[in-house]
Amino acid sequence: MIKINDFKSKKDKKIQKIKFSLSKILNPEEWSLNGRFLYLPTILLILCLTVSMLYFTNTLTRHLGSNIENQLKLITSGIQDEINKGARFAQTQAFSLSLNPEIQKALETQDRDLLKKIVLPYLDRMRVVSGYTSLSYHFMIPPAVSFLNTQDLNVKGTDLSGEKPLASRAGEELRMLWEIVPGHHGLNIQVVCPITSADSLLGIVEVSLNVQEIVTNIQLPKGIGIATFVDKSLKSTLEPDINFTEGKKWIYFQKESYRKILFDLDADINFLSINKKGQIYYSIIPVKNNSGNIIGGISINYDAKLNQKENENAIFYFFNILFLPFLAIISALYLNIKRIKIFFARLRKMIIASHTNDFADRFETDHIHCLEVLHCNHEECPVHKNPSLVCYLETGSEAISPEWRNSCVFLNKYGSCLNCPVYVLRKGDELTEMRNVVNTMMRLWKTFLSRIGQLLDEVLRTKENSRRILSLDEVSSRLEQMAKLTSFSRDIKGVYSKDEVYEQLKYVSENTFHMSRFVIFEVNSSDNRMIPVLDNVPSEPLCKRDILLSPELCRAKRMTEEICSKNNPALCPFFNCDQTKYYRCCLPLVMGGQVGAVISFLIPKSEWDTRSEQLVIIRKYLDETAPVLASLRLLEMSKEQALRDPLTRSHNRRFLEEYIAQFEPLSKREEKNVGFLMVDLDYFKQVNDKYGHQAGDAVLKQLVEIMKKNIRSSDLLVRYGGEEFLVLLPQVEPNMSEKVAEKIRSSVEQYKFELPRGQKINKTVSIGVAEYPNDADTLYKAIKFADVALYEAKNQGRNRVVRFQKEMWLDDQY
Ligand code: GH3
Ligand code: MG
Ligand code: MG
Repeated sequence: MIKINDFKSKKDKKIQKIKFSLSKILNPEEWSLNGRFLYLPTILLILCLTVSMLYFTNTLTRHLGSNIENQLKLITSGIQDEINKGARFAQTQAFSLSLNPEIQKALETQDRDLLKKIVLPYLDRMRVVSGYTSLSYHFMIPPAVSFLNTQDLNVKGTDLSGEKPLASRAGEELRMLWEIVPGHHGLNIQVVCPITSADSLLGIVEVSLNVQEIVTNIQLPKGIGIATFVDKSLKSTLEPDINFTEGKKWIYFQKESYRKILFDLDADINFLSINKKGQIYYSIIPVKNNSGNIIGGISINYDAKLNQKENENAIFYFFNILFLPFLAIISALYLNIKRIKIFFARLRKMIIASHTNDFADRFETDHIHCLEVLHCNHEECPVHKNPSLVCYLETGSEAISPEWRNSCVFLNKYGSCLNCPVYVLRKGDELTEMRNVVNTMMRLWKTFLSRIGQLLDEVLRTKENSRRILSLDEVSSRLEQMAKLTSFSRDIKGVYSKDEVYEQLKYVSENTFHMSRFVIFEVNSSDNRMIPVLDNVPSEPLCKRDILLSPELCRAKRMTEEICSKNNPALCPFFNCDQTKYYRCCLPLVMGGQVGAVISFLIPKSEWDTRSEQLVIIRKYLDETAPVLASLRLLEMSKEQALRDPLTRSHNRRFLEEYIAQFEPLSKREEKNVGFLMVDLDYFKQVNDKYGHQAGDAVLKQLVEIMKKNIRSSDLLVRYGGEEFLVLLPQVEPNMSEKVAEKIRSSVEQYKFELPRGQKINKTVSIGVAEYPNDADTLYKAIKFADVALYEAKNQGRNRVVRFQKEMWLDDQY
């Protein structure tokens, strides 16, 4: 058969699958044990971990930002201080040199060698004292002619007024000036001071201090670097530098070759504020000359990468600290759930086992190898004697050693099991305790069931099977069977006829045992016949016909025992069924030591396992039925004898009276037309006289047979007098009785009666006919009138049928 599902595409199936799993996820009632106690806590913990990580990272970054800002601000002001300090130092130097009389003298005399002699040692001393290595002094004579440059002693006496406007200005204004200018190796602090004597300008001293060197001396925390840079357009004034970068407006010098950053002047640089480029935070101090033009700047850089790494480390540790307990929680949950799952699996197994009654398959307590717990020095302890034994603890209060286990028993060895090492080891393990309780319960259950099984077997079946412990289902079904059997035996005791008993058996077979194919044969010992009284398989006779005529051929009847084709299909040669599909089972119904009936079942082979058990119970039903059926048969037999004529087996007048008593109200209510024929042999006395009484008897018997053939089975034949018979037609068309009478009459006329000695004679009958209610208003009146009509028939010459006429009976009373 093609299922509709087959036509569904793979996609639909996939969608259905997804829908199914989604509904399972969304509905908490459908969550599994793992889902509830493992997956859900794991998801929640992971969520918790992620949130706390994010929070931690965010806090750390924010903290880092503000930290960097503070540091950069601190360093910025430190640099400004240092530069101011440097400037002050250079000013002091310049001023003290301008006041030095020897220098004044050397300049006055324009003695360069003298000046050299004075300045160079002084310069060395200053370097040592100040710590600056790149201090340079430049002496000029007015207007601004280079006189001595400590950087380059071989200076030409050229006028530097154009190049050194600050120096010429100081000479003109006769006051000390200072400025940051681009110079060798970047930015320089330049201080110029006029050297005067008696208000006349002798010369100008210029002290230069490299800014780079000032910032180099500043102690910086890790990750921070300082770079100074100058305007590229001023590069002509500079010596080419290794860090000079072509194509950029700015060049810079870097401390500790920390990190190169190129700033574009066109870019919007927010001076003195914290900027960020990638992982680098920076702030820039702009450097201006005296005209207010930016000539360069100092950049303080902070490499957050270094901190980033530290942060990452901190996060990593933080994660580890959180992750390990998390892992521990999940593992603990997993292990416990596994244990609970094992418990439930075993519980389920046990419940199934209790139904199928396989108790050996119930909960197995986890065993403990004695060596693991062996602290026992008790010499009597079996473990002490044999350490390879395996210990079990079945309950909390006692240690039990089932026979099939190789185990030790701690019973009473420790005074109390509370001291038993196994118990000590197990204490507090509720799951094991539960398991132990269930095990004990099962042990009791087993005992209980086995007792019930024994009792039920005693009631329902032979004791051969009683060793087997019944399962719960078996017990309940047997109890049910017992209840039904009891009610059946009560019902059967109230029956009136055999047919009722057979109907009851039919009902039980069909409804209690669901066996619909069966036949009940009644064994009629007087006729030596087997009659199928209840045939539920009317299409095919279950037994060959011979059996019906000779009951002794039936093995079940002959042996008084159950016959079944299961083990031997050829057991009974009279089985008449398809033995490839069915088994045939015949159960005798024993009454007073004799088989009174045989119930024959047809059982499909596929159903044998369940049916064979039922046959045992059916036998119990038959045992209950047998005495009832026996007494009914006895009653019937005695009734038969009392109500029938022994010679012709036709009913007698007593029967007629009982019959009419019951039939009259019925015929009145239903307005039936009843016919009565009174039949009398003509000159019968002569037969007796001529051939003897036995010949008369033979004629009477044959007459009855002739009459029976001419009437229906529902009609009644009564021997009314010696050779006078009454035929009662309970339901006849009005005026049809005469025709029946005529049929009888002519049949008798044509018949040749056989006498015991072989003679054949002809006899005739006269018949009087009356009908109720046409001729008489009561049945008895009708019988009387039929008799009157018979009398008339005799008078008219015999061998005729006479219908009663009113004139025949003139009396008012009858
Ligand atoms: P008819 O009826 O024609 O007037 O003549 P009949 O000879 O039949 O008349 P009657 O009624 O006088 O005879 C009845 C005889 O039937 C009397 C009796 O001997 C005989 N008879 C009655 N019962 C039996 C019986 O059971 N067996 C035999 N052999 N004869 C019987
Ligand atoms: Mg007669
Ligand atoms: Mg007679």
